[in-house]
Amino acid sequence: MTTSPAEPAVERRLGYGPPMQSLRGRKTAERVARQIVDHVKQAGLVAGDKLPGEAELVARYGVGRASLREALRILEVDGVVEIRLGPGGGPYLAEPGAQSLGQLASLHLQFAGGTYGDLMKARGLLEATIAEHAAAAASPEALERIKRVVAMEELELGGGVADVSFAAQFHRAISEATRNRVLALYSESLAIIVRTLTARTHLRHAFDTTLVHAAIAESISRRDPEAAGQLMTDHVRRYSDEIVNRQEPGFLDEVIAWL
Ligand SMILES: [Zn+2]
Repeated sequence: MTTSPAEPAVERRLGYGPPMQSLRGRKTAERVARQIVDHVKQAGLVAGDKLPGEAELVARYGVGRASLREALRILEVDGVVEIRLGPGGGPYLAEPGAQSLGQLASLHLQFAGGTYGDLMKARGLLEATIAEHAAAAASPEALERIKRVVAMEELELGGGVADVSFAAQFHRAISEATRNRVLALYSESLAIIVRTLTARTHLRHAFDTTLVHAAIAESISRRDPEAAGQLMTDHVRRYSDEIVNRQEPGFLDEVIAWL
């Protein structure tokens, strides 16, 4: 690096960073964003609650309108705040979750050159671990929820329509049964990116899927981690090898696209 702090203009021209002024503005906005999050925690606000209006926030944090808007924009991108328009509009607290994390991960993976094949391998490893943990940790209520979802899948299949959303709910119910929020959040974030694959392939294997889901649910219910893990490993592998690879040859070698 040949530029020195004495040459900010050169640095700017070469694109090494934003002008100092806006960098400072960005830092102020990030500080305010963190203060808003602290306030949300202290005040015990939950998703759907309205945040104070712009004038009140400007006064409370002693910043300019531009910095406040930038702070809200940061929180909006991170999925923490939702800006509603129209009467009664303004900043509302949203629930940051798998959607925003999955989108962010897809951006990082696009830059890192991660492929959909990598995604499915990671998905298989994670889901198998989750199934094992669920078999050991699931509460009776969680087991009930898993069974209910499988029953819905079977019902849907009986009607001749396989709804992929029940399949997604099945995986979510299992990840929640681990009682480990880190596993659950990462599983769901990957599931958001996996949707790119399910959107391009059709589930002719719906019958198989429901059978396998029922078998996984059964092994979790009888608290058999080894069987649950193995069934899940095979399930994810079959999806990528037999469905994705056959319907869309080459898809697994594609680099993940930003959602
Ligand atoms: Zn599945």
